[in-house]
Amino acid sequence: MAGSTMDANNIPFHQGRFWRSDGAGDYVVCDLCPRNCRIPPGGTGWCGVRQNIDGQLFSLAYGRPVALQIDPIEKKPLAEFLPGTKTFSIGTYGCNLDCSFCQNHHLSRGRYTENEGNGSADFVEPEEIVGMALESGCESVAFTYNEPIVWAEYLADIAELAHAANLATVMVSNAYIARKPAEKLLPLIDAANFDMKGCSEDFYKNMTGGRLSDVLETIKLYSSMGGHLELTNLVIPGENDSPEIIKAYLEWVASNLPMSTPLHFSAYFPRHRFHTAPRTPPSTLMRIRETAIAAGFTSLHLGNI
Ligand code: SF4
Repeated sequence: MAGSTMDANNIPFHQGRFWRSDGAGDYVVCDLCPRNCRIPPGGTGWCGVRQNIDGQLFSLAYGRPVALQIDPIEKKPLAEFLPGTKTFSIGTYGCNLDCSFCQNHHLSRGRYTENEGNGSADFVEPEEIVGMALESGCESVAFTYNEPIVWAEYLADIAELAHAANLATVMVSNAYIARKPAEKLLPLIDAANFDMKGCSEDFYKNMTGGRLSDVLETIKLYSSMGGHLELTNLVIPGENDSPEIIKAYLEWVASNLPMSTPLHFSAYFPRHRFHTAPRTPPSTLMRIRETAIAAGFTSLHLGNI
C-alpha cells in the first residue's frame, strides 16, 4: 500500500490523466509537462500535487482550491479580453517550474500534505465553481494564481461546464506543458496570458529549472488555435532586462505572433529565494516600452508600478 486514495475527510482523490505505467515496481510516468516525472509508489512529481498511489496517478489538487476570488479581468492581466468585467479566479497549490524569484511562492510551493493535512482542503466540485461564478456576476472563470497546468483535470472539467453556462475561460500560465496534453486542454481556453520570462535558454535553466523552447512551442500552438493571447514578462534587473534579451524577446514575438499581441512588462519585487536584484525601476520598463513601440508593437502595458 503506498498512500490512500482518500483524503483526511474521506473524499476520494481524483484519478489523473496524461500518465502511463512504467512497468517497473509500480512506478508511473506523468506525461503532462516536459519534466515527464517518473514517480515511485507514494511519491509525488516535481510539482508536488500529482501522486503515485498504488501504481496509479492521482491529482491531489482536483477539487481542492486554496484561493477563490473575484478579480477585475485586467488584474490577470488581460488588457483586451472582456474589458471592464469580473472574473471568478481559482488557484491551488503546486507548480511545474521552480523560479527562484517566484512572486507567488506560498501557493506554488505549497503542499496539501504539509499545509492542508493529507489533502483535506474543502472539496469544491466543478459545478460549484461555475455556480459561484454565475452568482457573483462574473463573465469568465480564470485558472490562475499558481500554475493551472498541474491541475489540468480540474481545469478541464470546470472549463467544459463554464462554456455550457456561457462563461468564458481564462488561463494564466507558464506555458510549460507537453504537446499532447496541450492539444487537448488549450482548445478549452478562450483567453490566455502566458508568462514568457525572457528569451534566453540560460535564463530559463538557471532561474526557473525549465526550458524556453517548450514554452515557445506552447505559445505558438495556442496562437495557431485562434484563442485570445497576451504575454507577460517579469523584468528582473541584471537577469533578463539587458537590451540583447529584450531585443531577442521582441524579435521572437514579431516573427511568430501578430504585432498587435498585447505585451505586459511587469516590475519585479525581491521574493522567495532570489533577493540579489533590486526591484525593477520604472525607468527600465519605460525604456522597454519605447523599444517595443519603435519596433512596431501596438499594445504595451506596464505592471507593478
Ligand atoms: S505535471 Fe507535475 S508530475 Fe507531471 S511531469 Fe510535470 S512536474 Fe512532473
